[in-house]
Amino acid sequence: ACFSLGVMVTMNQRLEADTLLLVADEFGYKIEFSDADLEETDAEEEVDTEESLLQRAPVVTVMGHVDHGKTSLLDYIRKTNVIAGESGGITQHIGAYNVKLENGQRITFLDTPGHEAFTAMRARGAQITDIAIIVIAADDDVMPQTKEAIAHAQAAQVPMIIAINKVDKPNANPDNIRQQLSGLNPPVLVEEWGGNVQAQEISAKFGNNVDVLLEKVLLQAEMLELKANPERSANGVVIEASLDKGRGYVATMLVQTGTLRVGDYVVAGKNHGKVKALLDERGKNLTEAGPSIPATILGLDGAPTAGDKFRVYADESEGKAIANKREQLQRELSIRTKKHTTLEELGRRI
Ligand code: GDP
Ligand code: MG
Repeated sequence: ACFSLGVMVTMNQRLEADTLLLVADEFGYKIEFSDADLEETDAEEEVDTEESLLQRAPVVTVMGHVDHGKTSLLDYIRKTNVIAGESGGITQHIGAYNVKLENGQRITFLDTPGHEAFTAMRARGAQITDIAIIVIAADDDVMPQTKEAIAHAQAAQVPMIIAINKVDKPNANPDNIRQQLSGLNPPVLVEEWGGNVQAQEISAKFGNNVDVLLEKVLLQAEMLELKANPERSANGVVIEASLDKGRGYVATMLVQTGTLRVGDYVVAGKNHGKVKALLDERGKNLTEAGPSIPATILGLDGAPTAGDKFRVYADESEGKAIANKREQLQRELSIRTKKHTTLEELGRRI
């Protein structure tokens, strides 16, 4: 078919997107290009045995209307749950951090604007949140962004926990919030109202009942039976990446499966490189990061996009080849959107 179109190719040569469309058309097929094509370049999925799967920390996103107290809640949790004796370091903002609670259990919080975490990442097919905390100020109403946050969680089938915040305020009216939630379509019925959505009244500012809220998060996590195999090469999702003046490209990754280590060869989106350093959210060196643990890595050759998947390759040359292939595919995907190419046009270009 290629020859008949005037395209001289060999059997194992890659075709350009335009040519693919025409050839497929010859046989009565339509081609759909999607990002899924990029995944084809991934190595074979390793299969985990039941015994290899161990409990992992839940990954939690905090969402809600502006000024309802998301930052206050995340700050309080971070402040009160850092591992003792680790004060002093400048806490730089990174998009995710893991806290160890007094009972020894861990929770990973995504500190990216919640909506972004959902929309940008979900658009790229990366589901990283296990549980969503929806913060609603008790002295206000269920606002548009609250509804949007709830809709995101529902669409992603991520269980919600409602944090009814600012109950320290004299004009706080938690029942008003519960009632407005029940009036949504579909209704969100909290447990006190006979539903199955957990809710907790808190004051993020003063820390009241934040510990109870976190217990509810852990209870929800238990029900979800979150597990991953730490004993394999790591893969996960890019949370954020940027170019740092002193350190080159830095990327915060959330490990989902396996364990990421210094020296690993990582391919993230169309970027790649050897992990030169692994850092936690306080800039402290880590030797490894297992499932549900976020880590900032140094050593990539560029800044991948938030939501890009990453994977470790045992073989550096294989990793490089895959990164190159992805780059090539992405280039093709970006030219494929041009209007339908006619045979004449194709002929002219050859
Ligand atoms: P965000 O926009 O959702 O991140 O909201 P912030 O955490 O920035 O909070 C907005 C404002 O509400 C700030 O002035 C906070 O101090 C205040 N605030 C947050 N939580 C509480 C609370 O539990 N009680 C009271 N009284 N004020 C709060
Ligand atoms: Mg905020």
